[in-house]
Amino acid sequence: MKAVIVLLQVVLIFPLLILFSGAILMSCNRPSATAKKNNKDRTIKASKVSPNEVKKTLFLTFDDGPGTGTNNVSQTVEYEKILVTFFIIGNHVFNSRKQRQTWAALKADPYIELCNHGYTHAWHNNFNKFYLCPDSVVTDFKLTEDSLDFTNNIARMPGRNIWRTGTVKKTDIQNSVAAADSLRKAGFILIGWDFEWSLNPKSLNVAITADTLIKKLDSLFEHNKTRKAGNLVLLAHDRIFKNSYNFLQLRRLIEKLKNRKDYRLSWLSDYPN
Ligand SMILES: [Zn+2]
Repeated sequence: MKAVIVLLQVVLIFPLLILFSGAILMSCNRPSATAKKNNKDRTIKASKVSPNEVKKTLFLTFDDGPGTGTNNVSQTVEYEKILVTFFIIGNHVFNSRKQRQTWAALKADPYIELCNHGYTHAWHNNFNKFYLCPDSVVTDFKLTEDSLDFTNNIARMPGRNIWRTGTVKKTDIQNSVAAADSLRKAGFILIGWDFEWSLNPKSLNVAITADTLIKKLDSLFEHNKTRKAGNLVLLAHDRIFKNSYNFLQLRRLIEKLKNRKDYRLSWLSDYPN
């Protein structure tokens, strides 16, 4: 009889114990909402590539969201688990319920860094007038900062490839110098771009394929044609990835970059100095 009881214990209780401990383990491994939020710190940058192997740090940056195409980019980022930076236009967040929802999703995404692209995109692309009023430019960027609560002070001036970091000072269009200097003085770090993945204006497809783009990036790195050796800022716009061909090219770009041991993708807050 005793042997039968022991046998019953083994047959019935042991599997239950395994099930129970499995459930505990699963719940421990699943990141909580807090953990996910906290992932938006530097710990997520731990990569399989050792720092010694990395020769090229690439900063993928996407401008002008939230809007058309933003979700396509962010879903790819989430799926591929790569670090990218979005430059946000303040009033795009509040234009519609859908854009507010997109903004909320970007904010919660641990792989995305959010930076300031001004509130009105230079008074709705009135670049020359806008940049002649440095005080208004500062007000425009501060309004975005105050309404969106960024965790960094990185900004990009709309329609201008202007840099004001600790070590890089570049201005593409000289009548914007005063505005750029005022933004810097107000505490913003300005980062432009080394290369733009632009559109063919006729076809509205990306002007070069992902494969050609990677060759171009390799060449820029190898010939030291970036603002800082070993670091390259790539500009693209969210809206171009609404187009399914461009979206496929973006996915191909990211897949290929992830397989390159000499490349590392990072956030702009990681840009040197
Ligand atoms: Zn822009």
